Amino acid sequence: MSFLKLPDHKTKIVCTIGPASSSEEVLRELILNGMNVARINFSHGSFESHGKVIRTIKKLCKELDVVVSIMADLPGPKIRVGQLQDEPLNLQKGDKVKLTTDKIVGSGDLIPVDFDKLPYCIAKTSDVYFNDGFIQMRCNGVCSNEAECEVVVGGLLSSHKGVNLPGTDLLLDPVTERDLEIVDFVLDEGVNCFSVSFIVRGTDIQKVRDHAAKKGRSVFLVAKIERSQTLNNIDDIMDVTDGLMVARGDLGVEIPIEEVPIVQKELIHKANLRGIPVITATHMLESMTENIRPTRAEATDVANAILDGTDAVMLSGETAVGKYPVETVKTMVNIAKKTEMWRTSTGFGLDLIRKGIDETTMNISDVVSVQVHEAIKRLPIKYVVIPTYSGGTPRRISRFKPDEWIIAMSHLDMTCEQLAYSYGVYPVKVTDGSESIEQKANESLRSKGIGDPGDMIVLTQGHTGGTNLLKIIELT
Ligand code: PGA
Ligand code: MN
Repeated sequence: MSFLKLPDHKTKIVCTIGPASSSEEVLRELILNGMNVARINFSHGSFESHGKVIRTIKKLCKELDVVVSIMADLPGPKIRVGQLQDEPLNLQKGDKVKLTTDKIVGSGDLIPVDFDKLPYCIAKTSDVYFNDGFIQMRCNGVCSNEAECEVVVGGLLSSHKGVNLPGTDLLLDPVTERDLEIVDFVLDEGVNCFSVSFIVRGTDIQKVRDHAAKKGRSVFLVAKIERSQTLNNIDDIMDVTDGLMVARGDLGVEIPIEEVPIVQKELIHKANLRGIPVITATHMLESMTENIRPTRAEATDVANAILDGTDAVMLSGETAVGKYPVETVKTMVNIAKKTEMWRTSTGFGLDLIRKGIDETTMNISDVVSVQVHEAIKRLPIKYVVIPTYSGGTPRRISRFKPDEWIIAMSHLDMTCEQLAYSYGVYPVKVTDGSESIEQKANESLRSKGIGDPGDMIVLTQGHTGGTNLLKIIELT
């Protein structure tokens, strides 16, 4: 009889770790309740504290015998307000203020911004946004190191809040020296997954990959899509990235807010067609930072992202600094469960994916993934079992969002961790032996307590050069 209970939801959960969740107790609860990816946000905190969190998560994974990926978030060139003397600064519509690049403590109508090129990049009538776009200013003119602005939408501004200049070419390299220092630190801690902020082109992703390669390391990179220019280069980016994040926080300021829902749908669909895992991020259950229950709109947003075809949903402040990190994960899991059940019973949205895949030029792996999908539809298949080296085959099958678990067996920790991002894929670490694939499937499922003798499974295998084996067998 089975002793391992596979989760009863298949959407992957990404939690941002912060002061509310960095203790061993809370991390353990997050893992036990469904966290698949722990995101460490290097915009805040010290290397020392992040290193401690990384080590605690690794220890818990061993203790609990689970796979959790650690994703280091590289902040990129995020522009921020400098230090303000009297904060928060109460900005009212019509107020005239000066943004300065001088490294001063801001007071009165003078606000420091940590971006030297501000006067070059900002043009007259340009709009500048602060604090996730909640405060808006319009530039009336620039001189050497200052921009004169008028407040269009007021609000309370505090030190170090983010600044956005939508549509402006910031003349900034999206991958900074600081980012590369973080990469070095994180690689030394034994982590190889990164999310890369504010990228514009595929070459930005490539820069991080090349840097790691110089240290002899191969990395899993998630491209954060959060600038309007980035959307123009999306196909180039998809050619080189391992994953995608719909980073709605910055995206919602950088492009008109009414475009965000459709951009989300389009990015998810494109990623699905390519078999690249996609994370939908920011404000998913935002009100749970303070409250034990989410708003109706938030619960619906999580469900809709899942129905759009997202692989993973992400929590930010909710788990990093919120009052109810564990309850938030439980809420997300419950929404996922209900939504997936409904999708299974109605097939909602799945035709679109199937049609899209049918219209692409297929390689051998694609054709086999379609055949696996057919087999699942027509036979009482319990599991799809895949010995995998790179994770490519399980990811391709995951696109169909099957109701059956995709059990991916790999002897590489890195591959197992990378599959933590893909919908409905359950990675199992195996030893690299010479037994037949049937033996291997039987043994590793038995050792994990998955399945019973007589259960029908699809067994498929990818080789370098394509997925080229598909068998339907019964477990012994
Ligand atoms: P951030 O990225 O939280 O690092 O800003 C996510 C987003 O912008 O949505
Ligand atoms: Mn962002």
